[in-house]
Amino acid sequence: MVKRVVTSIVTLAVLMGVLVACGGTTVVVAPTPELEPIVEEIPEEDHADDEEEGNDGHAHDDAERQFLINTLLDLGPGDSPEVVECVVDLIVDLSGFGYIEIEQMFLGLVASELDPYLESERFRQECDAVGYSYSSRGDSVEDSHGDYHERLDYSDVDWECESSEQEMCWEWTSNASQYGCGPATETSSDSTQERLADEFCWVHKIYRPYVSLDSSEQRFRPLNRETRESAQRLADLGWNKPLDTPATYFLTSDLSSDSLEVVKRGIQAAEEYLGSYGPMRVYIIGSDTSATDEAIEDYCSWAYDRADLLERCPNDQGVGIYEMAYYGGSNAFAQHSRRRSSPTQSFVIGNPGNMGDYGSKISAHEYVHIFQNAHNLYAEADVFGLESPIWMEEGAAEFLALYLADQKGWISFEQEMAFALEQTQDLRDLVPDLTIRDLADSRDRVGSYCGLCFGVMQYATGQWATAWLVNQSSLDDFFFTFYPNVYELGVDGAFEKAFGLTMEEFYVEFEEFLELPADQQMAILPNP
Ligand SMILES: [Zn+2]
Repeated sequence: MVKRVVTSIVTLAVLMGVLVACGGTTVVVAPTPELEPIVEEIPEEDHADDEEEGNDGHAHDDAERQFLINTLLDLGPGDSPEVVECVVDLIVDLSGFGYIEIEQMFLGLVASELDPYLESERFRQECDAVGYSYSSRGDSVEDSHGDYHERLDYSDVDWECESSEQEMCWEWTSNASQYGCGPATETSSDSTQERLADEFCWVHKIYRPYVSLDSSEQRFRPLNRETRESAQRLADLGWNKPLDTPATYFLTSDLSSDSLEVVKRGIQAAEEYLGSYGPMRVYIIGSDTSATDEAIEDYCSWAYDRADLLERCPNDQGVGIYEMAYYGGSNAFAQHSRRRSSPTQSFVIGNPGNMGDYGSKISAHEYVHIFQNAHNLYAEADVFGLESPIWMEEGAAEFLALYLADQKGWISFEQEMAFALEQTQDLRDLVPDLTIRDLADSRDRVGSYCGLCFGVMQYATGQWATAWLVNQSSLDDFFFTFYPNVYELGVDGAFEKAFGLTMEEFYVEFEEFLELPADQQMAILPNP
């Protein structure tokens, strides 16, 4: 249990360590009740009202604020009180949580709830902080958002199973050794805790019931004028409109044209169906570190044009690109440069030549994220409750990538979907009361509950949720009715328009669908 707290403190510490001057005092807005995704902008006067309302307990607030600051200073790595104050004010401002709530989160088990705020663009942009933005960077080959590696918490893994009678205990997974973990061997020197730090390594034999969050307790920030205006600016610049110009490519000099082809055919397959968004530039990185200089320079000027961000980029994402070459990694990340004067999108992938058809499928998957982000006009959509659920983001990306890969003859859609169904059902057998709705409510909480389930739910179950919705409407409705309507109607409104039922109704019907025999489930799949 300590580990999660420590991890979160480290996250904050890292963040605080790189915070430069955080100008001015941020206005503290009273906690807001649950809001519909699209809410009316709060005029300036309302902010004043909020402050007035807060005046009753002003001295009280000050004491609570100071208490939280002192706690963080005690726990932190020796940052100045000004920096800690800045972090505290930003979390309060972004989250709407009270000081005491935040204090409890840091000292309790739900500090990860604060991650979205700690990773938000505002830390990067307004406070000049180089935070870790999971929406724009990642390390997982499957997932540009690649956040799940760092947000897992195995601290509740208490007992290793020692006899067959034990139930509330964990076991190593049968394929744990594939992931360099599993039971200790003579040569493994890592501690059990370290070897547990991979979601594929262990699984609880029996899970305690998952306690769902009460959705009505979720709080989102209302859209403010500034956010609305920057979204409108993006729309005016054509961020959410298809372009005549397809993606362009940068290949490091050590790679052959085979690598280019692997990526290009995946991106092109997705562009043919979804349209070209961006403008987008694709960086394909090999394994010669000296060849990355040129790629980093090109990438940084493509992704940024503000002098300070441009200057920082080589030491930030530039390092990620260098490391791709250094480790010969096949990882990938996407970047959505909404605040650039002429906005751009980019996708960076390492050594795709080793992956063949699979590399093309991954490229198509990542392009779906470019498309999804083109229809998301808000850099901090999650803070405002305007983000599609993660199962929809990942499930749809994988569903379409497999569908297109089958059309091109690279991979069997049916086989991959059958495998995803098996994974989905195995997880349901293991953890019967956990649903994708829980994942939508709090991916951190689900990740902490059962590391393994996190990936399965967002990909495999998400693919099947996509299949259900496509069957309910059509593939075209999924991509060309749902996504383009999110800006105007919000996620829930666009969902209802595209699929003819509310998200809540869907969650109920989808659970019923998951009870059907496999042949009836497979029968809903479209034929690529
Ligand atoms: Zn993904």
